Amino acid sequence: MASKGITILGASGSIGVSTLDVLARHPDRFHVFALTANSNVDKIFEQCQRFQPRYAVMVETVAATLLEKRLQAVGSEVVVLAGAEALDAVASSPETDYVMAAIVGAAGLLPTLAAARAGKRVMLANKEALVMSGQLFIDAVREHGAELLPIDSEHNAVFQCLPTDGRKGVEKILLTASGGPFRTWSSSDLQGVTPEQAVAHPNWSMGQKISVDSATLMNKGLEVIEACWLFGLPAERVEVVVHPQSTIHSMVSYNDGSVLAQLGNPDMRTPIAYALGWPERLVSGVAPLDLFATARLDFEQPDRERFPCLLLAYDAHARGGYATIALNAANEVAVKAFLGREIGFADIPLLVKDVMHQASAGTPMNLDDILIQDEESRVRSLSWIKNKKLH
Ligand code: NAD
Ligand code: MG
Repeated sequence: MASKGITILGASGSIGVSTLDVLARHPDRFHVFALTANSNVDKIFEQCQRFQPRYAVMVETVAATLLEKRLQAVGSEVVVLAGAEALDAVASSPETDYVMAAIVGAAGLLPTLAAARAGKRVMLANKEALVMSGQLFIDAVREHGAELLPIDSEHNAVFQCLPTDGRKGVEKILLTASGGPFRTWSSSDLQGVTPEQAVAHPNWSMGQKISVDSATLMNKGLEVIEACWLFGLPAERVEVVVHPQSTIHSMVSYNDGSVLAQLGNPDMRTPIAYALGWPERLVSGVAPLDLFATARLDFEQPDRERFPCLLLAYDAHARGGYATIALNAANEVAVKAFLGREIGFADIPLLVKDVMHQASAGTPMNLDDILIQDEESRVRSLSWIKNKKLH
């Protein structure tokens, strides 16, 4: 079998690092074509030394210059490219077969879409890209013969539990949620949450933004929308189940009463290996699940009052594409402001709700309209924060 060329968008992040860990176990099947990051020169330098990609892309120009100097100094042949357009180029190059979409947030939309339009196997971790572009993205995948494989552990679990030929007999998708670090906290305690507390997830080790999203349950809200698009189901058929152990990664409920679940240790290398190998299974480095050590599997309803972000996401999806873009953009701005100690934890849903409600009804039909809505929502979010500080 010919070795597959891999591009990793967001190589320096949590998913990027886990992807390289899996790839390193299969040097005969895969080679790294391109690694990309926003600005983390140290990480990409170290990865270039180890994996010898053809290209390394740094979005920030200063970082690109620095990386190039360091690579030249050690006689490396890796070609360094700078700027966001270079992301699209490596994601759609004829020399890459698979693209790991692991940039965080809206910044990942264009290169991920470029990969889909070039007919690649798109391994999608960057859920925000799909939440923003919805049907447009799914259409691009179909029109250009791309393969879309979910990396998000829940969606990867669902993918594993669905029939291979359509949705026959599928009643519901049951997305599990750990409930985050504040599952048992009271509403008043939630007011005083610090960024340090919010990024300390009980079961998963992840980037800062998704960790905060897990704490507000916005992550689960984005995942509901993601599931609707990936699996072509209405939101009424996507249900969230809080399962604090994160052992069951999600389930599919069938019309004969069967519920199929995928279980495993909470380690992203399992879904990554599944997407890389599909339809085969590959060794991932993840330890086998010890059911005796797990002992219990608990389930509870999500608390929609203490964690309003979940319902906001259902609401946005019902309103249409403009609202989901606004939801995502407002959330990104809010999380950044929370991490920067400009707003409180409980302000996140308030900001998102206000900005989402300002979006018009309906769904944008083209990329420009998507990007304009995204930009407008960010401007509105920033002025929300400014107002809040004044009062
Ligand atoms: P992270 O913060 O650890 O890494 C983000 C990566 O994106 C970095 O490589 C960074 O350089 C790059 N990046 C950031 N801003 C950029 C920009 N403006 N332009 C180009 N590149 C930029 O994030 P992560 O935890 O690896 O998550 C990545 C994506 O995967 C997110 O969409 C997240 O929701 C999703 N995801 C992550 C996990 C997980 O376990 N970490 C699980 C499921 C889904
Ligand atoms: Mg997930």
